[in-house]
Amino acid sequence: MIGFEGLYVIYLIASMCFILAIRGLSSPKTARNGNQLGMFGMGLAVLATLLVLPTRNDLGILSAGFLAALIGIWTANKVKMTALPQVIALLNGVGGLSSVLVGMAQILRGQVSLFDSSVGIAIGGVAFSGSLIAFFKLQGWLKNKHFSGANIINIIIFSGLIITWAEFVMTERMYALYMLVFGAFLFGATITLPVGGADMPIVISVLNAFSGFAASGIGFSLSNVALIITGALVGASGTILALAMTKAMNRSLVDVFFKTFTESEEKDFQSRTARVGSPQDAAFLMENASKVIIVPGYGMASAGAQYALKNMASILKDKYHVDVKFAIHPVAGRMPGHMNVLLAEAKVDYDKVFGLEEINPDFETADVAYVIGANDITNPLAKTDASSPLYGMPILEVSKAKTVFFVKRSLGAGYSGAQNPLFFADNTLMLYGDAKKVTEEVVANL
Ligand code: NDP
Repeated sequence: MIGFEGLYVIYLIASMCFILAIRGLSSPKTARNGNQLGMFGMGLAVLATLLVLPTRNDLGILSAGFLAALIGIWTANKVKMTALPQVIALLNGVGGLSSVLVGMAQILRGQVSLFDSSVGIAIGGVAFSGSLIAFFKLQGWLKNKHFSGANIINIIIFSGLIITWAEFVMTERMYALYMLVFGAFLFGATITLPVGGADMPIVISVLNAFSGFAASGIGFSLSNVALIITGALVGASGTILALAMTKAMNRSLVDVFFKTFTESEEKDFQSRTARVGSPQDAAFLMENASKVIIVPGYGMASAGAQYALKNMASILKDKYHVDVKFAIHPVAGRMPGHMNVLLAEAKVDYDKVFGLEEINPDFETADVAYVIGANDITNPLAKTDASSPLYGMPILEVSKAKTVFFVKRSLGAGYSGAQNPLFFADNTLMLYGDAKKVTEEVVANL
């Protein structure tokens, strides 16, 4: 047995592992080590907790932990890279739900500070239902539901939540606790439902922060140092990510949760025709170019085209001496860093990968912009149409390149639902088809 002093020392070591893990995750080169360190710290914390647990139900706890670990390993092995954003949304939700359940169990046993645990329960409840809605949206099972009066309804539910919370803390009545849980679930869902497609990355980061703060609240009520520190780390990093995202999207959190917009009209677009190119055209123009900028988006991830893309870039560079760069928009794909992860997986040279602000001036001197499975992140309506869900978001200025290839299967809209007028620009050629297949055909022609 290690005793409580020993437990605190182990928690401290585990917390240091978590902090170093986050540091490791800040660069693709050290991310793998960071991940391993985080896993080691978590294993240490769980083991130490089990050793000092004054429980009479070891078998129950061990079998639950074992089953959960099996589910975790199975999910991690089974899930496709393209479904990773949904899995992360679900994990946020599960974190929130566990704070609700642990907090309630402790309150029912009468062992905790009502203030800390009820705050943890409320925030955890919002994180849980909000993350479930985010999961459904990312999975494509739910469209944005911008119901009229959404803001008023949300303000009423939020006020109800505060009143119920105050009632519970002051009176300790159980019905107020159940109302609090219900209200938190309801608020999480109604605040996330109307959020415009393009703003989902910010919402996911906010919910991530919430799941951390909820865990921290429960950590205070249980006097569990490891939970307080881990929750605070998740809460702080989620908050920093949310703020970085709002800056990148040129939004405020008030805009994200309360701004209404109208869906773009599809009619005009259906009557227009776009110019269509072929993989041969793309190969010819790119092998004769001096500078090519590749712009990957969600469709590249969905098609798993990163290896074909890396191959294309290598041939252009080695055989034709073309300057090839990759342009990454902060919200490209469906999770922060989505494109970076996939390009790193395909071993794309990291020095050739540039962020939005760095790369935008380069488009003017680029011969070709090869936009592969990206849409919203290039949509000029973000600059010109105040009613667009994308309005205000900085875009990758691909239209400034001499020729723009859009690799996608149709003229369909992106995640935000906004149509993209760039498909009809004079310097645009559409390359219709699956991103991986089209890029492989380009490679075959190079
Ligand atoms: P978009 O969703 O705007 O566009 C992707 C395009 O890829 C679609 O228009 C689709 O067109 C095409 N596509 C899909 N599958 C394939 C395929 N197999 N082969 C070829 N093309 C394909 O993605 P972007 O990356 O441009 O923008 C990201 C959007 O997602 C933004 O609105 C962002 O706010 C949002 N978002 C981002 C998150 C993040 O954290 N990064 C999280 C949640 C949302 P077609 O059907 O015609 O092929």
